[in-house]
Amino acid sequence: MNESAFVSCPHCSEEVTADSDFCPHCGVLFAGAGPVACEEHAGKRAVGVCIMCHRLVCDECSTATMSRRFCRDHSLVEVRQDWAKVFGSSDINEAELAQALLEANGFHVQVLNASSIGFVWDGGGDSPISRSNISKPVKVFVPIPEYEKAVSVIEEWESGVGESTTELNP
Ligand SMILES: [Zn+2]
Ligand SMILES: [Zn+2]
Ligand SMILES: [Zn+2]
Repeated sequence: MNESAFVSCPHCSEEVTADSDFCPHCGVLFAGAGPVACEEHAGKRAVGVCIMCHRLVCDECSTATMSRRFCRDHSLVEVRQDWAKVFGSSDINEAELAQALLEANGFHVQVLNASSIGFVWDGGGDSPISRSNISKPVKVFVPIPEYEKAVSVIEEWESGVGESTTELNP
């Protein structure tokens, strides 16, 4: 009965469920969805959904970056594959704290380290690069569906960071 549960998105070739109205990877609307209006501009036809918040957007209130569609609120979010950046730091210790905090709150986390060959994913167990690049920028990513909640956890944490670090400084 579910023989063709998955189809390939005609726009980005990623796998999507056959009964989807849009592609969660690139935000394109499928023909089956029919003509739908932009959530912000009722008179305008939506061209897709924001891949971060799934809001219906038109040409006017969205941007397409690397073939993915973003609403205005999310146009500056850095996305790699299906991961979105929630935290960046030039201090690996701070990045590790952010990672530990997110993991403790049940988020899935991937860390991207800067290296001589560009940014590379932290390989988990064997990642000598992360230790040898103490002063290089580090970026912390979570899966796109976890982005909004992860951002609020990070913001809450960062609002307390200033006080605790000054206490630790001699
Ligand atoms: Zn797609
Ligand atoms: Zn959005
Ligand atoms: Zn619009």
